[in-house]
Amino acid sequence: MSHVLAPAVTPVVPVVGGGTFAVHRIYCVGRNYAEHAREMGHSEREPPFFFLKPADAVVPVPFGETGTIDYPSATADLQHEVELVVAIGTGGHDIGAAEAMGHVWGYAVGLDMTRRDRQSEMKKQGRPWEIGKAFEQSAPISPIVPIARSGALARGAITLEVNSQPRQKGDLSDLIWNVAEIIGQLSRAWTLQPGDLVYTGTPAGVGTVVRGDVMQASIAGVGTLRVAVR
Ligand code: MN
Repeated sequence: MSHVLAPAVTPVVPVVGGGTFAVHRIYCVGRNYAEHAREMGHSEREPPFFFLKPADAVVPVPFGETGTIDYPSATADLQHEVELVVAIGTGGHDIGAAEAMGHVWGYAVGLDMTRRDRQSEMKKQGRPWEIGKAFEQSAPISPIVPIARSGALARGAITLEVNSQPRQKGDLSDLIWNVAEIIGQLSRAWTLQPGDLVYTGTPAGVGTVVRGDVMQASIAGVGTLRVAVR
C-alpha cells in the first residue's frame, strides 16, 4: 500500500546523552499548583483535568541556546506557563500509583503557551479550549533528561523569567497531583503510549509576553529552556 500523500514527519525531541524521543501525544494537566489555581479563581484540591496539544506543537530547544516561536495569530494575550514535562517510556492503561514511576522515561522543561483571551472566552461559553491551547508552536520544550540520569524529581525550584525579570516561581513539591498520581489518573481515561509527553501544570505567576520578549524557564535537576517570541 502506498500513501497518496507523504506522511507527516514524526515530531522528535532530542535526548541528553544522545538520540531523539519520538513524540506520540501531548497531554496537559490543568491547575495543578494551589497558588496558580487560586490566581485563576478556583479552590484547591479538585480532581485533575486534562487537555491535549497536537504532537507537532513541540518546539525543541537545545540547552544553552535560545529558541524562537512566532507570535501566534488570533490573540492579543499570549501567556507563558512553565511546566515540568514527563516523557512516558512504557505505555499502559489503569496504571497504579505504585507502578507509575516505572513508566517515566525522563523529564524536560516545557512551556504551555496559551492564547489566554481565547481560552477565557471559550471557558465562559463552555466551549472547547483548543483554540486557546492547541495551536502551532505552543509547546516549546528542552531536551529530555533520562530519569536514569536525574533520578525521580519530587522537589526542586521551577521558575520563569521574562527579559531577566522574575515572573513564575514554585516548587515541584507543590504539585497538587504528583507525577505518579497524574499517570494513574490519565491512564484511566487514555491508554498511555511510549512517546507520550505530559505537561504537568504551572505554578503561580502566569503572564503576558509580546514580540521581542525572551523567556527563561528553569527546573532544578532538569535544566533551562530559553525561548524568544518573534
Ligand atoms: Mn498549563
